[in-house]
Amino acid sequence: MSLSIWYNGEIRDIASTGIHPLAQGLHYGTGVFEGIRAYANPDGAAVFRLRDHLDRMQLGCEALGIRFSIAEFEAATLAVLRANKHRDAYIRPLSIYARGGLGLDVEVLGEDALVASMPWKPHLGSERVRLTHSPFRRNTRLAIPPLKLCGAYVNSILAKREATSRGFGEALFTDVDGQVVECTGENVFMVKDGRVIAVEHPDALPGITRATVIELAGAESRPVSLQELQDADEIFLTGTSAEIAQVGWLDARELGANPVSLELRRLYQRVVTGQDATRSGWLTPY
Ligand code: PMP
Repeated sequence: MSLSIWYNGEIRDIASTGIHPLAQGLHYGTGVFEGIRAYANPDGAAVFRLRDHLDRMQLGCEALGIRFSIAEFEAATLAVLRANKHRDAYIRPLSIYARGGLGLDVEVLGEDALVASMPWKPHLGSERVRLTHSPFRRNTRLAIPPLKLCGAYVNSILAKREATSRGFGEALFTDVDGQVVECTGENVFMVKDGRVIAVEHPDALPGITRATVIELAGAESRPVSLQELQDADEIFLTGTSAEIAQVGWLDARELGANPVSLELRRLYQRVVTGQDATRSGWLTPY
């Protein structure tokens, strides 16, 4: 079945589009993307925290000087979901320097913009992540700001490959001082003596799922060392795609039944699927 995509202002068949082979963003990673979820609910479907994702995308576009309109991407997101009749879906907006040459001065360049949607199966939430401390360091904010800039994800992919090669499912970044930063595509939380703590680090992406969980759990946000994390009762990861994923192993250490993580996961599912009326402001129905 063909898939529709919003591409430079119009809904088109995905097969009829293409980025130019000499697009600057293809060569240097000068683009900004987002990862957003829509969830089916009893009334239809809704996008979760759409405006917050687009606000973050705007920050990335400002960093690279890419023209960006929140209203345009908001409308494009809803249009592509409707065109594809997707309800449980993953949404991928991207704006990338695509026209004007391969030089490093971006002021002369123009962007290609797209919003894709793809069907997404809800996770069952039973997987226990095998997490390992990565030998790679996270991009420092002094080199690349912690936003969803395309090229920055080479850092995540290198760490993920290395972790996978050793039989793990996800990599944990720490900084040179041994402070926990984040994972390749998720923020990190720990539970100790019943308290939920959101790992805070200036090199980590300001995650929207992280902010959601802080609000739902009344979690404390503060820096955490690797040593402290290793001693946690529970560890869980948050991200739009991963949602709330319990960690089953941190390197050689096996964690327990993770009751707090699983309860938060249930709470989160209720919110994103529209079963918690007090959080309906986070949902954009379509
Ligand atoms: N950190 C990184 C590096 C990510 O790519 C993501 C996924 N966007 C996250 C954290 C989690 O962010 P969010 O909850 O907004 O998806």
